[in-house]
Amino acid sequence: MTRVMPDPASHPADLVLQLFREGASRVPAASLGRHVDALRSLGVIVDGGVAPSVFCDACDLGHMAQVEHNVGSDEFGWRCPEADFVVADRERLRLWKVDMEAIVRSLASAAFDPRDFDAGDARDGVWRLGRRPSGERRVEALISRNGSGASATAAWRAVAARSGPSHLTLVLVAEHGIAAYSPMPGMHVEPLDGVLGRSDFRGPLIDAALLDELAVRLLSPATKSKGGRPSYDEKIQVVIEHLGERGLLRTGRNEGTRAIRAAWSDLFAGESPPGESTIKAHLRDFEKSAGRTGE
Ligand SMILES: [Zn+2]
Repeated sequence: MTRVMPDPASHPADLVLQLFREGASRVPAASLGRHVDALRSLGVIVDGGVAPSVFCDACDLGHMAQVEHNVGSDEFGWRCPEADFVVADRERLRLWKVDMEAIVRSLASAAFDPRDFDAGDARDGVWRLGRRPSGERRVEALISRNGSGASATAAWRAVAARSGPSHLTLVLVAEHGIAAYSPMPGMHVEPLDGVLGRSDFRGPLIDAALLDELAVRLLSPATKSKGGRPSYDEKIQVVIEHLGERGLLRTGRNEGTRAIRAAWSDLFAGESPPGESTIKAHLRDFEKSAGRTGE
């Protein structure tokens, strides 16, 4: 159970995003504040029963207590060493179950065909939203709770692989503070916040126009990250940049080589990694170009 503590002034849409980011499964009614009705009408929370335990607010001991049901009086409450049996307001003890798929469907509803939806990797926090054409080209969109690390990239590749070839896989990441980057050729990570439009009644929505603008920009020939099958050399560059952007590229060439081999097997599973001399040559080039740009 996650303790979501909303800002009382927040919009229900912000709370929906917060629940998504935290991957909350059950939340106490108290943590949703005055937004319970709005979230219910969006279908993103459903009744999840009574909380098994509660923080006692009838004394100053600051203790947790088990929730009990008094069958005779049909009252819920808990036992406190100072206040004896405390009768609780049933609504206060109610848990709400968060329907993560409903959240993702609601986010996607304005920009994607619901038949494209794929919740197959929901346990990794990755869903396929669907495809959008960009001129003659095909853009696949995924949504992901988390946005960094080789394991996230592997989960995106797995979902993208099931939806067939595309010119661009756009991964919309909910995690706070994520910067746009290209984890591999043909794949681009973008903060979810950047493509959200707001509706007062339907919660946060991915805005189709913002998404299409982004796809045009990313698919333009001037943009570095092109679609298509990357060459061996390009893949080594991808791994080096992947590590470099995360500050994981060790300065010593031997350590660097080891880090690159490990990241290679995460990013390009099943493909044999490049030899040591090839990696070192690329590292030398990378260090030279990093020195030239003053980074
Ligand atoms: Zn107490």
